[in-house]
Amino acid sequence: MNEKFVHTAYKGNVKIAVCYGESYKAGMSSLAYQKLIELFLSEDFFMSRFFFEKNTVYSPDNFFKLNQANIIVFTISFEPDVINALKMLLLSNVELENARRKQTLICGGILPTLNPKLLETVFDFQYFGEIEGNENKIRQILKIKSKTEILDSLNSAFGKNIQKAEEKAPPPHSVILSSDTIFNDAFLVEISRGCKFNCPFCLIGSYYPDFRQWPFETLCNIIDTGLKYSSKIGLVSALPNSHSDILKIVEYILKKGGKPSFSSIRLELITEEFIKILKSSGQNTLTIAPETADIEVRKKIGKVYTDEKIINILNLSLKHGIHNFKLYFMAGLPGDINAENEIIKLCKKIREQLLIYAKKTGIMPGLSLDISLFVPKPGTKWENEIMQNEVFYKNFINNINKNLAPLGIKTKKDNYNISISQYVLSRIDSKYLKEIITLLKDNKPIKRKLKLIFKEIKNTL
Ligand code: SF4
Repeated sequence: MNEKFVHTAYKGNVKIAVCYGESYKAGMSSLAYQKLIELFLSEDFFMSRFFFEKNTVYSPDNFFKLNQANIIVFTISFEPDVINALKMLLLSNVELENARRKQTLICGGILPTLNPKLLETVFDFQYFGEIEGNENKIRQILKIKSKTEILDSLNSAFGKNIQKAEEKAPPPHSVILSSDTIFNDAFLVEISRGCKFNCPFCLIGSYYPDFRQWPFETLCNIIDTGLKYSSKIGLVSALPNSHSDILKIVEYILKKGGKPSFSSIRLELITEEFIKILKSSGQNTLTIAPETADIEVRKKIGKVYTDEKIINILNLSLKHGIHNFKLYFMAGLPGDINAENEIIKLCKKIREQLLIYAKKTGIMPGLSLDISLFVPKPGTKWENEIMQNEVFYKNFINNINKNLAPLGIKTKKDNYNISISQYVLSRIDSKYLKEIITLLKDNKPIKRKLKLIFKEIKNTL
């Protein structure tokens, strides 16, 4: 694995472990984690990175062991990362009871902000909300020597208030580029935060209530820096094509000899011009997320478009040389009673179009599906809806596979146990977590426990 450092790292007095409860690849691909690295690239700190890799604690820096750090910091966005974070601490002999621990253990990120009760007895301090604008304050506090003073200062500076990013703060971007990331060596920059849409199952709207975008000129300056390190520029956002200057940004990168890349794209915002830009930036796959093939349910989730609109976009993409399509769907959405059959019908309709194209050109375009199970998350409009069980999910996937796999349409599904852990860990408090920790300490599997808690708390809704 090759790494390029955009900023210098220091060997200051305060040993700080910057941790991510997932693999190196996932962590280094996360801008939240890159932001945390940037925070401690300062002369008072001696930073070492730690990840959870194949059930062990992995540090690419290896400057010191996790338990030798003065301060241990985690950013936690996803529920399963909580379990991995606990495993990392246990594997490193870091005391999980905060009163008995010598190190200062801090976490931040989407999950602690949305479910502050979960980790309150393990972590010494939970930072809620956004970091931009508070960097200096945090650095000043964390360089204090005693744990008690650090915690007193953090509590009086931030307490339990949800912090909001300073308006003029620059966007987060990569500070270490790595060949072993999801985006391979790309320099990542966040172009907007929040989302203009408010899908009833999505947390983005509750976590970031306002949609904000960084100005074109600010982004160009950062992109110029990024292009010194990599020709690949990853534009990070909940929906990159919702930035009002997206075409200008992409054209700027292309003009400078770079290659932009994006994550998923909102179908209503796709234009022919945008497809041309996608193609000229080297993208060969169009990923869209209709979530459901039932038009009425689609309307309920704010995606007001017809199957014909989907097919038109696909045809336009084919016209401009994009030959692979990935569609995201959700199983178990409220009211989506005929979901699998509607998905199968829609995919067959799409395939007919792809076959017409194949006959004309000799190129058969690829179509694949990515299916996850609807998890009602607290804080969303659908927080009190029902989450379906494992049998439902299995039948759903089997039905789709049985009908679509013979047509060459591949389906990737999310693991049911991950959905269970999302449901449970986004809702339970530290009392339940204590039971999970007991199992982890005894090296026992926790899947069964999570399912039992799931049943118990589901009935209280
Ligand atoms: S699902 Fe996508 S479009 Fe909907 S609110 Fe979330 S980020 Fe926005």
